[in-house]
Amino acid sequence: MAAVATPVARPQVRQTTCFIGGEWVPAVSGKMFETIHPATEEVICEVAEGDKADIARAVAAASEAFHNGPWATMDARDRGRLMYKLADLIEAEADELAALETWDNGKPISDSRAADIPLVIDCLRYYAGWADKIEGSTIPIRGDFLCYTRREPVGVVGQIIPWNFPALMAAWKWGPALAAGCTIVMKPAEQTPLTCLRMARLAQKAGIPDGVINVVPGYGPTAGAALVEHPDVNKIAFTGEGTTAKIIQRSALETMKRVTFELGGKSPNVIFADADLDAAVEGAHFALYFNQGQCCCAGSRLFVEDDVHDEVVERIAQRNRQFPVGDPFDPATKQGPQVDQAQFEKIMEYVDYGKQDGAQCVSGGNRIGDQGYFIEPTLFTGVTDEMRIAREEIFGPVLSVLKFSEVDELIERANNTNFGLAAAVWTRDIAKAHRFAAKVRAGTIWVNCYDVFDAAAPFGGFKESGLGRELGEAGLAAYTESKTVTVSLG
Ligand code: ADP
Repeated sequence: MAAVATPVARPQVRQTTCFIGGEWVPAVSGKMFETIHPATEEVICEVAEGDKADIARAVAAASEAFHNGPWATMDARDRGRLMYKLADLIEAEADELAALETWDNGKPISDSRAADIPLVIDCLRYYAGWADKIEGSTIPIRGDFLCYTRREPVGVVGQIIPWNFPALMAAWKWGPALAAGCTIVMKPAEQTPLTCLRMARLAQKAGIPDGVINVVPGYGPTAGAALVEHPDVNKIAFTGEGTTAKIIQRSALETMKRVTFELGGKSPNVIFADADLDAAVEGAHFALYFNQGQCCCAGSRLFVEDDVHDEVVERIAQRNRQFPVGDPFDPATKQGPQVDQAQFEKIMEYVDYGKQDGAQCVSGGNRIGDQGYFIEPTLFTGVTDEMRIAREEIFGPVLSVLKFSEVDELIERANNTNFGLAAAVWTRDIAKAHRFAAKVRAGTIWVNCYDVFDAAAPFGGFKESGLGRELGEAGLAAYTESKTVTVSLG
């Protein structure tokens, strides 16, 4: 008999205010906003709503910590040690943090336990190891000189993150910034501020000095925009929508801030007829439906070679019909609710567009229940390249299947998009796989796998999917400035 899953208890919410200069403080305005549990629409708690005044205080604290605090003068290895300590404290609280993530975001507890929080810990440890390995070089210039470079922290960094992987996005941003010796003002997404605030408390417990990490919860056009405008912020790292990134880019230009962007996608996932179909079907399903379809790199354009098209469609539809959608606190659940009402409505609109544009909805397409933002895993076939569901990011559990018969034409179609975040190919032909990897214009290519992330492997977009890379050494480089020192030996 199958084991009956035990629902997980709701965790305690302990941090709900701004974290500035090592203090937990309400917003200057006294305003608060609600954060909800998307499965029930219940209010979890109210959180301080920071805006320009709070950002100004946080940036002042981060500047002080950068220019005068112990962070700047600490031995690099000791900086790393504090980061390991933070990772250890997160690990000790992993179950509770996973539950907090599930409560605030709605993602299945099995995912927050097996993916989000372990990846947070791994990312912080990976970058902790970098702290004392950030080296310059000596350069043999002409003349009697010693010339060398120093890689210095870029300074105070503003970090603005989305709601789809709240804790993990915080770790991706804190890891390289802390290793490089930067100080941070983070604005978490208004939908999901709780795990970031908890992690800030653990950073404080770990002994990371006051002012090094500051967190200001609030909305994008107020708190977020103030962070981007602030003249004492040296860099903005942003993950979110392309339209927001363009607003940020224009504003950041005024003070010549460094920017890195990790944006959306419409990633092609290609199944050739010679693929291991069991793996390909499972992989294609995971590529789109993981995290309720709320992944920037979701494999949302599934190209299937005509010989195996009908079989693949039938097998994915079959999986959809059996997919456990429901209470995210039930460990057996694989798909929870969408994060909020706005996302829910946007996705349902795309389901309508799919139908209006003539695609066939072979599974799903409806809301589940009347409480919480649940949507059936949805599958469209007969999708053509010009349809809105093939061109625009849906960010929900809606998969578009496109048929193909010829490789060159396939590559052209895969590249026929303004995005370029990720792509995948399923085939047993190694030459075909590498040709695909070389020709598709995207920052990450997966071969016979999908969503394989590692803190050491750079991630980011071509074209309108981003600017710069996160993770790996490339992600670290984006938090440093190179300084050239030339010394006369004459
Ligand atoms: P999403 O669809 O993932 O919510 P957004 O780009 O709207 O994408 O949001 C991502 C993050 O950017 C959130 O933290 C949000 O508050 C913030 N944000 C939204 N608008 C702005 C803005 N004008 N300036 C700075 N940050 C913003």
